[in-house]
Amino acid sequence: MLSCKETTKLVSENLDRDLSLRERIALKMHLSICSACRNLKQQMNVLRQATSFYTQEDVDTPKPPLDKKPDSESD
Ligand SMILES: [Zn+2]
Repeated sequence: MLSCKETTKLVSENLDRDLSLRERIALKMHLSICSACRNLKQQMNVLRQATSFYTQEDVDTPKPPLDKKPDSESD
């Protein structure tokens, strides 16, 4: 059985990579008995969603080209 510390690590890693089947099962088992880690996972998901929201907004913001003139005046 995973400790809370190991579970926290897996929950965090799960946001960045695909866990192995073994890891997912261990994680699920721990989460089913530990409400503290369930809350933690929830918070991490919310946090990640907020982060991706800001990342997406940043991508959508048009940036002016640095090495290009806006119009061809010397074409
Ligand atoms: Zn736990």
